[in-house]
Amino acid sequence: RLVLALVEDRTRERRVEEVRRDFVANVSHELKTPVGAIRLLSEAMLEAADDPEAVKRFAHRMGTESDRLSKLVQQIIELSRLQADDPLDAAVPVHLDDAIRSAVDASVIDAGAKRIAVTVGGQDDLQVFGNEKQVTAAVANLVSNAVSYSDPGSTVLVSTRVVDTSVEISVVDQGIGIPAGELDRIFERFYRVDPARHRSTGGTGLGLSIVKHVAATHGGEVRVWSEPGHGSTFTLTLPQHFGSERKQEDS
Ligand code: ADP
Repeated sequence: RLVLALVEDRTRERRVEEVRRDFVANVSHELKTPVGAIRLLSEAMLEAADDPEAVKRFAHRMGTESDRLSKLVQQIIELSRLQADDPLDAAVPVHLDDAIRSAVDASVIDAGAKRIAVTVGGQDDLQVFGNEKQVTAAVANLVSNAVSYSDPGSTVLVSTRVVDTSVEISVVDQGIGIPAGELDRIFERFYRVDPARHRSTGGTGLGLSIVKHVAATHGGEVRVWSEPGHGSTFTLTLPQHFGSERKQEDS
């Protein structure tokens, strides 16, 4: 039995190493794209020095690529931090009202620019037990996607409810939706349904893998329903925490 355990350990180690190597390869590939684009744009700018309109256009695209690069770096750091830390090291009762408010605030500029109304509803005063930053980041990624993949003027609804011993946080949009065949894959790192569209939305393909990781380490799960052309619903389910009532001075 000892031999069997050793073999299993080695297999697991090898798998972890493969995953790590794949991740590093993906990261370098993903970083090369915006870096290469910035390099080309700078050359184009130098060549077009006597055409101010062209210089402006290239400078604008350089800004977009830099934003993409910094979002990518930020999410890679977030993901590796998630994998290194035990989320329950910093576990505290997390008030979902606060986490959802911060998550929605993080998308306020993008939502405003597209005249998308993000509304929050459902049951108040729910708590989960976990890492507050991570829970907030997970909800923030779902809200940010809902805004990114929706047309201007549409609505995003974030709602909470209790189901048995869990709380459910749903983010519902009226956006472009996701084809049924892609639903399994969207939680993979760097996976994007339509990479071409990503150039304009600036997605990294990491958001949902962060959500999935946070759900798993908190003993929960994330699910999706979607109808292409009509919208998507992402539901994050986490075990409910029954803490004491919030003190007056906290609210
Ligand atoms: P990204 O940062 O690129 O958005 P994610 O991991 O968050 O990466 O999402 C992976 C893919 O899933 C996206 O490329 C997008 O195609 C699809 N997706 C995620 N959320 C939504 C949504 N609310 N509506 C439509 N498509 C979505």
